[in-house]
Amino acid sequence: MKIPFSPPYIDENIKNEVLDSLNSGWITTGPKVKELENQIERFCQAPKVLCVNSWTSGALLMLKWFGIQEGDEVIVPAYTYAATALSVIHAGGTPVIVDVGDDFNISMSNIEKAINKKTKAIMPVDIGGWPCDYEALNTLINRKAHLFEPSNEIQEKLARILIISDAAHSLGAKYRGVSVGQHTDVTIFSLHAVKNVTTAEGGAICLNFPEPFDNAELYADLRCYSLNGQTKDAFTKTKAGAWRYDIVYPGLKINMPDVLAAIGLGQLAIYKDVILPKRKDIFLTYNKYFSEKKWAILPNYSDGATISSCHIYALRIKNVNEKQRDEIINQISSKDVAVNVHFQPLPLLSLFKSMGYRIEDCPTAFALYENEISLPIYPQLTKEEIIHVCETVASCVESVLMATT
Ligand SMILES: *Cc1c(COP(=O)(O)O)cnc(C)c1O
Repeated sequence: MKIPFSPPYIDENIKNEVLDSLNSGWITTGPKVKELENQIERFCQAPKVLCVNSWTSGALLMLKWFGIQEGDEVIVPAYTYAATALSVIHAGGTPVIVDVGDDFNISMSNIEKAINKKTKAIMPVDIGGWPCDYEALNTLINRKAHLFEPSNEIQEKLARILIISDAAHSLGAKYRGVSVGQHTDVTIFSLHAVKNVTTAEGGAICLNFPEPFDNAELYADLRCYSLNGQTKDAFTKTKAGAWRYDIVYPGLKINMPDVLAAIGLGQLAIYKDVILPKRKDIFLTYNKYFSEKKWAILPNYSDGATISSCHIYALRIKNVNEKQRDEIINQISSKDVAVNVHFQPLPLLSLFKSMGYRIEDCPTAFALYENEISLPIYPQLTKEEIIHVCETVASCVESVLMATT
């Protein structure tokens, strides 16, 4: 039995949506993107959603819009995918990498210690689809508003630190009963091929700014900014007589094409009723199986009203070091079951090391990383395959534990 880690879920309906786009005579940004934005708005009850070509470019867009510049600090967790911090570097700011808590998510007390007059934004990450404590975070930034030093009109209008949630994993998750997408100023979902809902490559930016911001107006501005700062998109310009346009911003070129939005429409159509329940099923099956193993530390699914989107199943093996974890993974891989590690804390990666970040400053992130193994979790897995994964993982863990005790 060969079990891949995360193949995309593609059914007939998704193929037909793509064909529909190909046959329509319009393949780049147009009606399908608009429809996908509307559907994501409805799905997570966000005031406004803008789709772009990746999570990364969405984050870059929002940081540039906020006017992040040299010397500005943006707080990010050590435990995340590199894109979180890279978007800050691309925008010209400095990522301030802080340690996480035992739930893999950025620690509120470490954020508090890192906030100073240079702090312009915070990017919490919902690791594996488990939401951060947004209420605590929002309370914290309001309490620290007196430290905030605005350097442009937008920053004056917000008058506090901006929160951009890295929700690359958490489309469909709930925080205290309310969908992720409504808890912070900006929430960005990734629609990359391995994520819960995909467009092959893509990102969806939820705009949820408080007054006096107007999210609809902001959507129109940012949409223009995502298309070279051009006042008319290519779709509108194809209409007879609508040829003249202007360039009003030094915009980016990060729009999502319709042919990719079509994949997302087909996926979203079955996300709530098919894909998400199946992920939950697998997550809980793993939890039940591994709860009987003394060596297992289980990931969070729910604490009542906060519910994971089950993007990653992050199993941890008690008292195992990095070398033993790697050996367990070698053994599992040799049995044709693909597993993974989410994530290598940023200071372990060459780029961040060379910039002076040190893993010693992030002991919890390292402690989580050194004994973490991500198991396959996606709707195509059969009951039989799920049991096979459980048994393969358990036997490899136990054989490594036996050899070392
Ligand atoms: C996948 C991922 C991203 C990047 O998403 P892209 O759409 O590939 O740019 C950012 N943050 C986290 C935590 C991710 O897992």
